Amino acid sequence: MNAPDPVDIIEAASPAPRRSRQARVAWGDHVVTIGGDAPVRVQSMTNTDTVDVIGTAIQVKELAQAGSELVRITVNTPEAAEAVPHIREQLDRMGIAVPLVGDFHYNGHRLLTDYPAMARALSKYRINPGNVGKGDKRDRQFAMMVEAAARHDKVVRIGVNWGSLDQDLLAQLMDDNGRRAQPLDAKQVMYQALVQSALTSADHARELGLNPDNIIISCKVSGVQDLISVYRALARRCDYALHLGLTEAGMGTKGTVASAAALAVLLQEGIGDTIRVSLTPQPGEARTQEVVVALEILQALGLRQFNPSVTACPGCGRTTSTTFQELAKQIDDFLRAQMPVWKAKYPGVETMKVAVMGCIVNGPGESKHADIGISLPGTGEAPAAPVFIDGEKAMTLRGEGIAAEFHRIVEGYIERRFGAGATAR
Ligand code: SF4
Repeated sequence: MNAPDPVDIIEAASPAPRRSRQARVAWGDHVVTIGGDAPVRVQSMTNTDTVDVIGTAIQVKELAQAGSELVRITVNTPEAAEAVPHIREQLDRMGIAVPLVGDFHYNGHRLLTDYPAMARALSKYRINPGNVGKGDKRDRQFAMMVEAAARHDKVVRIGVNWGSLDQDLLAQLMDDNGRRAQPLDAKQVMYQALVQSALTSADHARELGLNPDNIIISCKVSGVQDLISVYRALARRCDYALHLGLTEAGMGTKGTVASAAALAVLLQEGIGDTIRVSLTPQPGEARTQEVVVALEILQALGLRQFNPSVTACPGCGRTTSTTFQELAKQIDDFLRAQMPVWKAKYPGVETMKVAVMGCIVNGPGESKHADIGISLPGTGEAPAAPVFIDGEKAMTLRGEGIAAEFHRIVEGYIERRFGAGATAR
């Protein structure tokens, strides 16, 4: 077998670009571009009652500070619609410019018409074509929402979901399929219905005067393979920016892994301009966990860099103490907690790589690959922990205070490398 061509290897590792239209979601001077040459954006959604202005504003702030670039809120009642401008004001007072997205189902046409202050305070509307209305009301109510978006110059996400798919369309496609010489299986018809619902709604919105750049599409399903199939089909058929997410991904490890599996495949193919991870919070878990997972997916794929990365070995029989696990977690928590301040104070710090390793086997090597790394002593090794900075062994730590000492060394490194007086490397 011939040796692989290095160029082939590099190309195989590079995500293929899909150039979509670019939407500009704005609040005041703060503009978040989605699609085109913009980086893949991170979104999230609150789970507070929107009527609770302070509670919702606080959760939006937490999600934004965790890294969410847009935050969606439920707008389901007249009271919720009245609350939206007050939530916006609270956020503005707190200095949080994150654009708000309104999530509408069933009565969005009325709310967007009757509450213009709400329509203005939102930066983007999510319209679900399956929940706009039935029969002859459907087109009229859809038109009312699109006209509100055009009037206020807002971006619209046409967000189809298989849990609320337009049943009339699905029934019609099933009938058509039944008449085919070789009918497709039911799943394929469902994929077709999802894509067709989104794209015909987008066509309709354009006919009503919505700028096509202001249209974003999503077709969410809860199965990994289903999502991959649907988005590949969608990407082939349109150039709208695509909002990507596995709906109802579930809780904890299952929800995290399923979202990562689905999104990674599509993002690697260049499909997806903005993502949301729909995690069910575990009891007591912060809502911001869905943002943490979304950032990690993009960072793991090398598409964006948000936080310094901590490389830690899994541990094995060569290190039976938990010291390195604790140190790795402490460093990871410490870096994350500091990032809201460090982002402004230390430009570029998010690219830093830290290694915390458990023994001599891979410890020194991995630590040399990192910007700063520590190789802790494994079982039976001398109680000394060499620290490597920029690939060179810089010092050896000993004794009880290794963790605190390493923290100080990391902080000093960040100040020297990324602080105001840093010199270019
Ligand atoms: S670095 Fe050492 S402790 Fe960590 S996994 Fe490798 S052999 Fe095990």
